[in-house]
Amino acid sequence: MQRLQAFKYELMPSGEQQRQMRRFAGSCRFVFNRALALQKERYEQGEQKLAYAGLCKRLTEWRNRPETAWLADAPVHPLQQTLKDLERAYRNFFAKRADFPRFKKKGQHDGFRYPDPKQIKLDQGNSRLFLPKLGWLRYRNSREVLGVVKNVTVSRSRGKWYVSIQSEREVEQPIPQGGAVGIDLGVARFATLSDGTFYAPLSSFKRHEDGLRKVQQALSRKVKFSSNWKKAKARVQRIHARIGDARRDYLHKTSTAISQNHAMVCIEDLQVRNMSKSAAGTAEQPGRNVRAKSGLNKSILDQGWFEFRRQLDYKLAWNGGWLIAVPPRNTSRTCPECDYVSGDNRKTQARFVCVVCGFEENADVVGAINVLRAGHARFACEVSDAVGSPAAGTHRSGSGAAQCRP
Ligand SMILES: [Zn+2]
Repeated sequence: MQRLQAFKYELMPSGEQQRQMRRFAGSCRFVFNRALALQKERYEQGEQKLAYAGLCKRLTEWRNRPETAWLADAPVHPLQQTLKDLERAYRNFFAKRADFPRFKKKGQHDGFRYPDPKQIKLDQGNSRLFLPKLGWLRYRNSREVLGVVKNVTVSRSRGKWYVSIQSEREVEQPIPQGGAVGIDLGVARFATLSDGTFYAPLSSFKRHEDGLRKVQQALSRKVKFSSNWKKAKARVQRIHARIGDARRDYLHKTSTAISQNHAMVCIEDLQVRNMSKSAAGTAEQPGRNVRAKSGLNKSILDQGWFEFRRQLDYKLAWNGGWLIAVPPRNTSRTCPECDYVSGDNRKTQARFVCVVCGFEENADVVGAINVLRAGHARFACEVSDAVGSPAAGTHRSGSGAAQCRP
C-alpha cells in the first residue's frame, strides 16, 4: 500500500533567502486575497464563480500588468497552488465543513507550496534542499525522509521558517495488532479507554496561562514597535511556542500508543465547532451559562480533540486498523450491564451507579464502554452494507444501546 507521509524540519536560511521567502509568502497572500475578492465581486454581479483554470488565466494577467509585475518575481507554481487552496476553501464551505473563505492576514499561516517534484532537489547527505528561485536551503536534519518526494511546503511560524516534505512510498499492508477499544474524551481526563486505562488532562494552556497573561500585560504597556515592545513580543511568542510544542508532543504520544495497541478504535463523533458556537447563543437567544460553557469550550479546544482524532485516524490506517466515529447518544447515561438509560445513573460527574441493577463504575469508563458497543454495531452495519445483505450483519456485542442508523 502507498503511504504518504510529511517530514518537517526547521530551515536555516540566509538573510537573502529569508527576504525572498517573506516576499513569496506575501505574493501568495496577495494572489489569494485578490482571487477571493474577484470571486465575491462576480457573485455580487450575478456572474458564475471562476474555476481554477479561469483563475490561473487571471494570475497570468496580474503577473504581466505593470502595477503588479512584482508577482512575476515569485515562483509561479506556489502562486497557482494558492488558487487551488482557495478552490478547496470554497469546496469545504459548500460541503458545510468550513466557514466562508476569509482574506488572509500577514503573519497568519504565512507559507507557500511547491507541487512539482521535478523542480525540487533533496540532498539529505548534506542536509540541504533546492527550491526554485530560492536555491539551496540548509535545514536541521533530524531524521531521514523516506520514499519519493511529492511536494514541499515552506511555512513561517513564530519567526522561524520550516519546510514540510511530503513523500510517498510503498509499504507492506500491515496487519492490525490488538483488539477493539472505545474512547471517552473528557476535560477531567483527556481520554479514558473502555478497558479502564486513562490519560491525564493536557491542560498545557492552563499551566502557562498565568505566565502568558503577565507577559501580554507587559507587552500592552510598551510603546508599539519600540525595542522593548519587540522584546516583550518575542517573550509572548516563546510561551505560545512552548504551549504548542507541549500539546503536540502529548497528542502524538497518546495517539501513537493507542493506535499501536488496537485494531479498532471507537470514538464519539463530537462537533467541537458547533459546541463552541452554541455557547454564546445569538442576540435574540443568548446562551445559558455562557461563562461556564465558554470555560468548558476553551478546555475542549485546549485539549486538541480534533487534532487527536485526526492523528488517530491516520496512525490507525498506517497500522491497518480502523477508526469508527459514533454519534454521542446516551453514552454517559446507559448502563453497560442492563441497558437501562437514565440521567439518574450518573450520580456525580465522576461516578456511574445504575439505579436498576446497581452496576458501579467510573463514569468516563462507562462512556467509553458504550462508545465501543455503538462502534461494534456500526462496524457490523457497514460490513453488512458492503456485502449487500443487511441480514449478514453480525453484531459482535449484545448491543442494546447501539443502533445502526440513529
Ligand atoms: Zn444496570
